[in-house]
Amino acid sequence: MHEVFKIGDFWSCIPAVSECCLCSTCGTTEMMSHILIHCCSRPTRLIWRLAKEAWPHTNIPWPETNLGTILGCGCLSVSQAIANPRQPPDQNPRSAHLRGASCLLKILISELAFLIWALYCERVIHEKNHTHQEIKSRWLNIINSRLTKDKIATSKIKRNKGFTTLVLNIWEKVLHKENNIPNNWINMHEVLVGSCQGRSLRQHAFKESQVQVLPKPPLS
Ligand SMILES: [Zn+2]
Repeated sequence: MHEVFKIGDFWSCIPAVSECCLCSTCGTTEMMSHILIHCCSRPTRLIWRLAKEAWPHTNIPWPETNLGTILGCGCLSVSQAIANPRQPPDQNPRSAHLRGASCLLKILISELAFLIWALYCERVIHEKNHTHQEIKSRWLNIINSRLTKDKIATSKIKRNKGFTTLVLNIWEKVLHKENNIPNNWINMHEVLVGSCQGRSLRQHAFKESQVQVLPKPPLS
């Protein structure tokens, strides 16, 4: 990291604050790989767990991660080996599915690293102790922000079938993992990760279809 960040050994040669070189949770020298991946602090452990839980592709294993994986997450791609090589990539639905999975992986890794770093700064600089619920809310907020931007892009910016298909392949399985979402979820602002809104919307629609118009009672 070219010693850009003031962590770990940066502080060890400053006597008044030399203890700042150690992680307050683990007691080991703080390096970026420790902060983002190996630290036993609640935010690091919980955010990795939430990201892995959000990963909906049971046939594609979550990759082994190190600092290089995080720094180079923009180049991450899930294996193409299981795609049908006889079909051109654009006509191969399996390939489109893998492209969506690759984009989702980039989103999850980049956002989790950013959030862990942000919470680390709040913890070290402002001495904030984040609760389990607070960390989970911050994670859902950051992921749903990405989802909402993609939804808006499909309807108001790009508006083409290729991009809409990509957004469907990125998010649909994530949303389906939690809820029974409506078919037109991409146009619904209410359908979010970690929300029961999708299920309730479908249930609401089902109940409305079952409503019977009762005859008015006779006038007395
Ligand atoms: Zn630690």
